[in-house]
Amino acid sequence: MFLPQEIIRKKRDGQMLSTEEINFFIQGVADDTISESQIGAFAMTIFFNEMDMSERIALTCAMRDSGMVMNWDHMNFGGPIVDKHSTGGVGDVTSLMLGPMVAACGGFVPMISGRGLGHTGGTLDKLESIPGYNITPSNDVFGEVTKQAGVAIIGQTGNLAPADKRVYAIRDITATVDNISLITASILSKKLAAGLDSLVMDVKVGSGAFMPTYQASEELAKSIVAVANGAGTNTTAILTDMNQVLASSAGNALEVREAVQFLTGEYRNPRLYEITMALCAEMLVLGKLAKDSEQAHQQLQTVLDNGTAAACFSKMVAGLGGPKDFVEHYDKYLEKAQISKPVYAEKSGIVSAMDTRAIGMAVVSMGGGRRVSTDTIDYAVGFDNFICLGETANDQKPLAVIHARSEEQWQEAATALLQAIKVGDQAYQPTPNVYGQIRAEDI
Ligand code: URA
Repeated sequence: MFLPQEIIRKKRDGQMLSTEEINFFIQGVADDTISESQIGAFAMTIFFNEMDMSERIALTCAMRDSGMVMNWDHMNFGGPIVDKHSTGGVGDVTSLMLGPMVAACGGFVPMISGRGLGHTGGTLDKLESIPGYNITPSNDVFGEVTKQAGVAIIGQTGNLAPADKRVYAIRDITATVDNISLITASILSKKLAAGLDSLVMDVKVGSGAFMPTYQASEELAKSIVAVANGAGTNTTAILTDMNQVLASSAGNALEVREAVQFLTGEYRNPRLYEITMALCAEMLVLGKLAKDSEQAHQQLQTVLDNGTAAACFSKMVAGLGGPKDFVEHYDKYLEKAQISKPVYAEKSGIVSAMDTRAIGMAVVSMGGGRRVSTDTIDYAVGFDNFICLGETANDQKPLAVIHARSEEQWQEAATALLQAIKVGDQAYQPTPNVYGQIRAEDI
């Protein structure tokens, strides 16, 4: 009925595509009847001409429906199915606490997460630092652990939004990744295939964010909220700060350690606490588990204080093959690097800025992330005890502790941190941890 080249021509000439044309094109992407060059040209026409919201909704739904769309009805969870997705950050270990916290409040979180991308860390890589944790269980085990623990965090199966997989690989090599229509459809097609009742989207702002400016982050947040709600999933976006490392650590095993300490109350970085609570609270409100954000905050504090959030994490880890006593004895299980030494600023002063992207790349350079998809990860390396913006660095207060495999690696990481963290007498301009939220009614 349609010809791919005519669809490309139409978009090239700035016209709107119909839902039928978009469905036809994406069907062809999924069944390989549309060629790589046609997909590359299609992405480029969207890059230059954008899509309006109705086209974005059609593209998202077509890519979502190109593979399996999960349905949890048979599991009778007995509570709302809620999830969170982030545009990616450095030291962003939020999911590991958020899933169990929401689960402990009565939500069900079947979270399909990703690996590190560029300078950002990946939840799956972090979880794989737990010995035995299986990120690719069968769908039955995924559902059963979600039911028993309230949360299961696993990796994407090959059959979820396969059209996006093909389109994304081509975007990556045709300079068409950084486009809001395409990013919206790509993120949401995968998330909405997980059969969710509602979704909270954490859109990062700042030097370690995927989008280059506040305006671009806000534009992406609005696009995601409009499209996800238009596709039938109740969604709110929260804009959060990524002008510094979010947790006190960056590196896989180090972040898992911090997540457990957060859940047990041993140590809670205040910035990570505020952002995690804000995201969880919105999940409870969207899932109708709390009447408003204030009530949600109280419920969340209770499950942190009485240990039920930590217990949900423990059940998830054990249910997916990890140690049963991981929460109690995490230090016994998490791999450690041979060298753990602080790095100090060259002269004392106030920390006024961090190049968070460069810090993320320093973790990748140490082996804590991948340069190419076949790289193996060193879970033990990275940083902890990170200094915060506005604090004074001096010979008592280091910039961070570096966990390295060798003196040479320590030195390289130290050089990267000294370059990435600006210390001086310049006044520090504080930024909020949470900039605001965009709900369906705000669009
Ligand atoms: N992450 C995705 O999954 N897709 C994009 O297009 C960008 C980031």
